Amino acid sequence: MQHTMSSLGRTLYISAWIVLPWLLNACQPMPMPLPIPPQSLAIHSDLLPYHQRLQLRSTDEIRMIVIHCTELPDLASARKYGEKIHYADSHTGNSGHFYIDRDGRIEQYVPIERVAHHVSDHNARSIGIELVNLGRYPDWHHSQKQRMIESYPEPQIAALIALIQHLEQQLPSLEQIAGHEELDLRLMPASDRADQMVPRKRDPGEHFPWDTLMPDIELKRLDPVAQPPED
Ligand SMILES: [Zn+2]
Repeated sequence: MQHTMSSLGRTLYISAWIVLPWLLNACQPMPMPLPIPPQSLAIHSDLLPYHQRLQLRSTDEIRMIVIHCTELPDLASARKYGEKIHYADSHTGNSGHFYIDRDGRIEQYVPIERVAHHVSDHNARSIGIELVNLGRYPDWHHSQKQRMIESYPEPQIAALIALIQHLEQQLPSLEQIAGHEELDLRLMPASDRADQMVPRKRDPGEHFPWDTLMPDIELKRLDPVAQPPED
């Protein structure tokens, strides 16, 4: 019995010398993987020629995401519009940071550490996301054509959700989301009759699926009445 025990002890002792180094090696911390966007998220960088002339900011200041639609037929025409120079002093134009095509393709026109011109009075602390959608195109301010005509396809909204989730992870200071139409309530004379006023901005409009988006993100939807302009 004693002989058996000591033999078992020796076996355990030898096994420990074989197994322990292996175990210790297996318990070494794995090298930290580099942070990468979720697998379904691919952001194609296509920065505007003037992006380096846009004002720099600290990304800690970014508080809000603003949802737009392009009110143009396709991504190519949105790009053309984004490249146009509107501000002679800075030699820059109007654009969002990100553009999402109907098929879910995401393009980035402006780095998030630069201020893009996409919404009056709220640019400095926001990120603009533009969805390709006809909106009121081509009679944006015609008194009889104020309905948004196109719905948002599922792949486009899925890409938007993935992009917002990615930005939420990247930017802990983000807390709000709003539609452009909720931040710019100004009216202007209709293009066909000056005695009637129409909204300057209606995007993303009545077809935008807030009910689909909101349960999948952490941002709070902005109360436009409580939001003073920042600039
Ligand atoms: Zn807009």
